[in-house]
Amino acid sequence: MKIRKKVLPVLRPLGDEKDVDALRKTILGGWWGRGPKVEELEKKFAKKIGTKYAVAVTSNTIGIDLVLKAYNINSGNILSPTISFVTTAMVPLWNSCDSKLCDVDKITNNLDPESVKKNMNKKTKAVIAVNYAGIPCDIDKIRKYFNGLIIEDCALSYYTAGAGLKGDVAVWSFQAVKTISCGDGGIITTNSKEIYNRLKLLTNFGIPNDTYQRSVSQNSKQKLQPGYVWDFNISNVGYKSYMNDIQATLLLSQMNKINKSINTRLKIQKQYNAELPKEISRPIWSNTCQFYSTKIENGSRDELMKFLSSKKIHTTIHFKPIHLHSLFKQNNKFRVADIEWKKFISLPCHAAMNQEDIEYVIYWCNQFYK
Ligand SMILES: *Cc1c(COP(=O)(O)O)cnc(C)c1O
Repeated sequence: MKIRKKVLPVLRPLGDEKDVDALRKTILGGWWGRGPKVEELEKKFAKKIGTKYAVAVTSNTIGIDLVLKAYNINSGNILSPTISFVTTAMVPLWNSCDSKLCDVDKITNNLDPESVKKNMNKKTKAVIAVNYAGIPCDIDKIRKYFNGLIIEDCALSYYTAGAGLKGDVAVWSFQAVKTISCGDGGIITTNSKEIYNRLKLLTNFGIPNDTYQRSVSQNSKQKLQPGYVWDFNISNVGYKSYMNDIQATLLLSQMNKINKSINTRLKIQKQYNAELPKEISRPIWSNTCQFYSTKIENGSRDELMKFLSSKKIHTTIHFKPIHLHSLFKQNNKFRVADIEWKKFISLPCHAAMNQEDIEYVIYWCNQFYK
């Protein structure tokens, strides 16, 4: 087979003319800050997940930070899996907490409830549970040991049915390579009105009514102040982390295409499972397949990655264990993660792939093991 000219990326976003048309309208419309589009997104997203509230923010990372602040967590320790993006271990440090990393389940790569049991203590304020590659973490089992706050990191699970409903609060990501994206963005979903209200204040300097509400308020209760209501009172520390209407416009457009995008990923997953060589093991089935992360059991992973790269196929590793970074060095043992991560390889899997791309990856993987 001829080597392709353009690199096949392991992940990438997919935009189309509908996205451009939607953005065009918002850009020409004159309201770019947080406004009606963000409101529409928050309503639509909460409905899709099945929670009462959603708060759109600038990223999942910032979302998790705001959740800790909304729950007044600023001491003690927070547990999270060592196989994750560094967000889940880093954000606790921003809030004067220790990050205690836990081992993962060998099959799902999700937080191992037994490891939570072993690592938790009186100072444990929260557990961050990641749904790896869209596979739901066994939060019910974690709850048997830990009855405190569970933050569900859904960065990789839009949209796996039921995701975001087991944790006390869930945080989603719209970073450039997630299943739907606006470049960077995130959203927090919750059923708690109190937490929702606190999050709203935290995202905008503690200002109780945002600029958009103040600009339309002449029609509502504040009849004495026609036009733009400039005044407000701040009584608590807040941050600047709300999403804007340009990002929300792109996301609303991306949400409309999620089924098509997921179906492409599922097709890739199915065909990889059916046709890759036997040396590449089959990952547990994901209903989202945010990435296709599998394992090479015979020690040839690094060579395979090099070989595929020479054929213009990019691969990656999800993820190098966080405890191997010097900042997050731990005292405990990681019997599963330390062994399994050396087998990880993620093959290209995204909505912009066509049948030819899928067959190209399968062909070269088979050639390597011939
Ligand atoms: C991508 C990712 C994040 C970070 O999301 P951002 O929106 O980029 O902040 C957090 N957790 C996991 C598991 C991720 O994959």
